[in-house]
Amino acid sequence: MKTSNTLIATLRELPAEAVIASHQLMLRAGLIRKLSNGLFAYFPLGLKSFRKVENIIREEMDAIGALECRPPVIVPGELWRESGRWDTMGAGMLKMKNRVDQELVVSPTAEEAFSALVRDELESYKQLPLTLYQINTKYRDEIRPRYGVMRGREFTMKDAYSFHTTAESLDKTYLDMEAAYKRIFKRLGLSVIPVSADSGAMGGSGSEEFMVESAVGDDTLILCPQCGYAANTEKAVCAADEALDKNGNKQVATELPIGKVPCPGVETIAQMEEFFKMPAQQFIKVLIYKVYNSELDLRNAPGGQAWKREMNQGAPHYPVSFFAVAIRGDLEINEAKLAAALKASEVELAEESDVIAYSGAPHGFVGPVGLTKVPLLADLSVMKQKEDGSYEIYLHDTVTGGGSADVDNIHVEPGRDFTPYMTADVRTVLAGDKCPHCGAEFYSKKGNELGHIFKLGYKYSKTMNLTYLDENGKQQAPIMGCYGIGVDRALASIIEEHHDENGIIWPMSVAPYQVAIVPIKYDGDMKKYADELYEQLTKMGIEVLLDDRNERPGVKFKDMDLIGIPVRIVVGDKNLPNVEVKLRNEKDSQLVPVTEAGEKVFSIVQSALAELR
Ligand code: ATP
Ligand code: MG
Repeated sequence: MKTSNTLIATLRELPAEAVIASHQLMLRAGLIRKLSNGLFAYFPLGLKSFRKVENIIREEMDAIGALECRPPVIVPGELWRESGRWDTMGAGMLKMKNRVDQELVVSPTAEEAFSALVRDELESYKQLPLTLYQINTKYRDEIRPRYGVMRGREFTMKDAYSFHTTAESLDKTYLDMEAAYKRIFKRLGLSVIPVSADSGAMGGSGSEEFMVESAVGDDTLILCPQCGYAANTEKAVCAADEALDKNGNKQVATELPIGKVPCPGVETIAQMEEFFKMPAQQFIKVLIYKVYNSELDLRNAPGGQAWKREMNQGAPHYPVSFFAVAIRGDLEINEAKLAAALKASEVELAEESDVIAYSGAPHGFVGPVGLTKVPLLADLSVMKQKEDGSYEIYLHDTVTGGGSADVDNIHVEPGRDFTPYMTADVRTVLAGDKCPHCGAEFYSKKGNELGHIFKLGYKYSKTMNLTYLDENGKQQAPIMGCYGIGVDRALASIIEEHHDENGIIWPMSVAPYQVAIVPIKYDGDMKKYADELYEQLTKMGIEVLLDDRNERPGVKFKDMDLIGIPVRIVVGDKNLPNVEVKLRNEKDSQLVPVTEAGEKVFSIVQSALAELR
């Protein structure tokens, strides 16, 4: 390709709206342009790299026997009603109606579409296992699209869905996917951190995310330096730690009854520590949460509390319900873990009016004792319900909110003075907490999710009625898995990892062009040799960009550096019959006789490609 025949749209200025390197460089190198918030166009150079990323993903999917399909991006809303996600996906899903009032969805993901397609084809166990995938457009109405294509509204995802007769078969595909993902990221030149998490309901490691480290990452990773445990903070668990009293001793149970202490204005944990002269570890804080679409069947809860009677009068599952959550004073509640424990689509802190309505006290004075209008979940830092229904108690002689304004309770004994509806691990694990597997202290990093593999179980096959006939002619539901990679986010992450102050430094596997030929002036001998090299390398199968523009050499060098082409050949009359060969990631260039330059550059490209395999 000659620069005169393509669109070189480099910018000298730093675009004001871009704060991270990949976003800045994708704009400056002319790879993308913004059409609207979260909506980007790829220009020809950007699209070339984008296609290479897609193709690497495609090759590795094909290599493990996944089959590419192409369903429509716009799918009937009816399918989402069947799966139950029409209402639970929230505002992120773009819905619309066509001229005959049919409800339609712009796919934010495609479990429904693939389940529906497979449902229509699936008859016998002989057709399974089956893994289908697409590399296709997704739309999510992200609240805050940012960092360019890293978090856009429209983006491209590789998403695969697998269908199996047995959990063992799903395990095998899951492991194949994991291995394929590792090969993909290696070929893309990306250092990823796989973070695995035990997905409670499925058992084993049912969900793994592939993260890249990033200072502006939206995820926090919890990592063990000793045994390699790595988890997203949304799932990370830690070893139980013993809470201590003000003298640094183990807390001991008290015989004293609850005492009420007036404490106007003492609302925060810090204020409580000051007022009671006690460490936060001896407080229990209780927060009221609004819980969406919980699948817990609260009708069967023991006890005759008011909240249960209220619920029994309503629908089996309220679309929204309220929960109180008790946790040790020095810890934070992790909303993702809480939502998972409550089998809810989302949780958020209740508004003050609801806090008062459900607990009787304003925020800061809510306590676990005497809550009747709302079920209570206690974190494992407070207590743990054993299989026989009794409790292991971890905090003693505690101070809690008093259940009415400006009052706290002292000498509160969990188990004696209150019992929760349920106990679960909902604390936010932090650097410094201990690994539950080996006891070492965790450290943490910020990261971005690049890909995700997930055992879905029977969720979609059951709600959407997928069946096949097994060997005995009996109807069975297939077990499923799903596997996603963001193509745009992968591309941006490559630039995050491979750039310097002058621009992008593409790994050979995804460079828009592998070699740039820059004649100092596209004229006379320089033109002749540049053209010859261009012909020769192109014939060898190398992707070459020949800068035939009538620009100052400095401008051309700057542009090629910014665009990030891995190898540059400069043809200048001072050096002829030698040419200068320079690698983008090295400082110095070398002079090579023009007759040998083709072979030399060819082998540079080949060995760079081989290194990434
Ligand atoms: P995130 O937590 O970053 O929003 P997610 O958990 O919603 O991601 P998935 O639903 O698992 O992501 O989607 C699979 C992949 O699609 C992600 O790993 C990511 O690479 C990509 N992806 C998701 N949302 C976006 C987006 N708004 N822009 C670009 N890529 C995205
Ligand atoms: Mg998301």
